[in-house]
Amino acid sequence: MNKEICQKCHTSVEEILETGYVGCEKCYEMLSVIKAVDKMYGGKRHKQ
Ligand SMILES: [Zn+2]
Repeated sequence: MNKEICQKCHTSVEEILETGYVGCEKCYEMLSVIKAVDKMYGGKRHKQ
């Protein structure tokens, strides 16, 4: 279970994973979110 909560907007990792939306830019700093986002996009990141 993920109990991590964003320090800024207090959105929980669980919520983010459920909705697919982050509350703010700080949410991306949570390790669980980073991992989840990585999975979601499956390495299909924009190439620069
Ligand atoms: Zn946040």
